[in-house]
Amino acid sequence: MKVIVFLGPPGSGKGTQAQILSEKYGFKHIATGDIFRWHMEHNTELGKKIGQYLERGELVPDEITVRVVEDAILREKNPIGFIFDGFPRTLEQARRLDELLEKIGLRVDIVIYLKVSKDEAIRRLLARGRHDDRPDTIARRFDEYKSKTEPIKKYYEERGLLVEINGEQTIEQVHESIVNTLKSWEII
Ligand code: AMP
Repeated sequence: MKVIVFLGPPGSGKGTQAQILSEKYGFKHIATGDIFRWHMEHNTELGKKIGQYLERGELVPDEITVRVVEDAILREKNPIGFIFDGFPRTLEQARRLDELLEKIGLRVDIVIYLKVSKDEAIRRLLARGRHDDRPDTIARRFDEYKSKTEPIKKYYEERGLLVEINGEQTIEQVHESIVNTLKSWEII
């Protein structure tokens, strides 16, 4: 069973690529942002707790986020592997993911870092127009990314797990680059 992590700034195409890949190869796609939005739409206890963070473009506290991920991992009975999209977003989350995976005999096998310029990422977010794709929220999400998420790159780089992909190509080209990388790493 293989574990793939997608890393990259808001608007880098993580969600799009993770979705295409998981559908094509049967991975279980775990996107913390999607899970959080589901809870907000359904007005669950968790949804009420996290709404303010998503609204402001701030990261949800690690304790809450890790619990949600643990739940999603353990719920899955027989996946061929996992794709994490938008998680981990802090060093603490990265460490906790390693612990969670170790407990079930798995490890992160590869981290796909989608590189896009800030200008291009902002263009895409504004074109997408999700509820939290407003200029003030976008600015906050980039600040959070820079200060809390970007340090994770080094964490995975030191373990030899990070592969950088040019995220400014078309969706199909990015997908093809990812597939080629995963094949050469014997992950698919
Ligand atoms: P996304 O759909 O990945 O763009 O995430 C949308 C929002 O959900 C983020 O701006 C955060 O408020 C929250 N979020 C998603 N994933 C995480 C995470 N791993 N840690 C903390 N907050 C998260």
